[in-house]
This record gives sequence, structure tokens and C-alpha cells, in this order.
Amino acid sequence: MKKPKINWEFNWQNIDNFTKHKFDGTIEYTCLICKEKKDIFHMVSDGGAKMICTLCAKKYYGSPLTAVNEFCLSRKRPRKRKG
Ligand SMILES: [Zn+2]
Repeated sequence: MKKPKINWEFNWQNIDNFTKHKFDGTIEYTCLICKEKKDIFHMVSDGGAKMICTLCAKKYYGSPLTAVNEFCLSRKRPRKRKG
């Protein structure tokens, strides 16, 4: 499976939201792959960073757990925050 394009521009917004709201199910996060907005219960991430939805996780990595291991917790760093 071809690895997806990561839309890093949503990364800091997700981190900020997660830092403030944690597992509040009313807050929407943006998947870095498909850019769909979903609540935290349909996302995987590393503490809010590198957040992707469970559907993309399954589609591109086979399972959410694999996605966490191969993407969220990988050493590949998100881009620096702008501004
Ligand atoms: Zn997605």
C-alpha cells in the first residue's frame, strides 16, 4: 500500500485541542491524511500529535495499532510550528 500524504498543517491545531480538551467527545480533530473532522474516539495519535482517523489507519497501515507504531510513534517529526 502506498503511504499517504500527510497534511502537517493540521498537526498543531490537533495538539492544542488535545492539550486543552483531552478525551472530550464533543471536540473535533482533523485527520492529517483525509482531513475529515472527527471526535477523539475515532482517532489515533501520539498525545494529540500525528493524529489520523481510524479509517485511514486501517486503510493505509492495516490496523490502528500498526498505524500508531509505524506513524504516530515513529521518529518522523512533524514540521515546526509556524509563527
Ligand atoms: Zn482520515
